[in-house]
Amino acid sequence: MSFELLRELCATPAAPGREDQFRQIVRRELEPIADEITQDAVGNLFAVRKGKSKSARKIMVAAHMDEIALMVRHINKDGFVYFSPLGGFDPRTLVAQRVKVHGRKTLDGCIGIKATHFTTPEDRKKVTPLPDLFIDLGLPADEVAELVRVGDPITLERELIPMGNFYCGKTLDDRVGVYTMIEAFKRMEQSDDDIYAVATVQEEVGVRGARAAAFGLDPDVGLALDITIAADTPGIEEQNHCVGMDKGVGIKVFDSWSISHPQLVDFLRELAEEHSVRYQMEVLPAGGTDAGGMFASRAGIPVGTLSIPCRYTHSVVESVHRDDVERCIELTRLFMQHSGRFRLQS
Ligand SMILES: [Zn+2]
Repeated sequence: MSFELLRELCATPAAPGREDQFRQIVRRELEPIADEITQDAVGNLFAVRKGKSKSARKIMVAAHMDEIALMVRHINKDGFVYFSPLGGFDPRTLVAQRVKVHGRKTLDGCIGIKATHFTTPEDRKKVTPLPDLFIDLGLPADEVAELVRVGDPITLERELIPMGNFYCGKTLDDRVGVYTMIEAFKRMEQSDDDIYAVATVQEEVGVRGARAAAFGLDPDVGLALDITIAADTPGIEEQNHCVGMDKGVGIKVFDSWSISHPQLVDFLRELAEEHSVRYQMEVLPAGGTDAGGMFASRAGIPVGTLSIPCRYTHSVVESVHRDDVERCIELTRLFMQHSGRFRLQS
């Protein structure tokens, strides 16, 4: 496991629709092992390792490059920057955070907060709504006006660290999925099928890139790699934990964007059991992955998702267990390598 690569992936900005810089890193990693690498008009990246069978099918394994981010909505006369969300934010997680504003230059900034000395007990009970939050760039208004324009992307700032047995930082959703895809693609032996590792755009704003990618590629099977909610923390009852940390790779059955094909769920479970990869079944009441986009492409594609359990999702302290990451890489590798064994029964 390369912590350095995961850290680089987490640190490289990719607001939805602005994945260019990040895509270069994915390309750098996939190109040396791919038989061919291509990109579509909206920025999805496709790397293929050709299969050995004459009747090779197309298997699409997808992970999204974009992260939840912000966009400049308004700059006021004093040079404070107001923003719109790109993806699902809880405003409580934004207050007092550091950001990077990607203007004509990349600028450091912070999301301001009223000093506690000036807040009333009433104020402290309230959550500042997202439209009222602002960014301070530490620059005079005329300089801000020169460097920042409405529509510029903004990303959050937090370095990935090892924390006990976890990795903790921003954008593990879905950098750990992209990392898993790269590692499995590197480690797999040649499959019967053509294995496509697809790095997608614009997942966080409604699973848009994967739909376009799947339409273009027309795969026979689709597998998404993403994080899922580990709610095994104080204050949440056991029946609502969804999945637990260090309990294995999640084999998704359901979320609000997709129902995994039952035969694919069975196949993934069979592979995990055969090769003693620890796994857990996942039913997620909310949220979705690229599987939802692939499923709805063309005449419908059988899909599934392998998940990495993650605590504190969509915050700058997202946390995953390193053994769960390894288990997800291993089951993804097994799926890629043995995809030829999976045949849909009517
Ligand atoms: Zn995600």
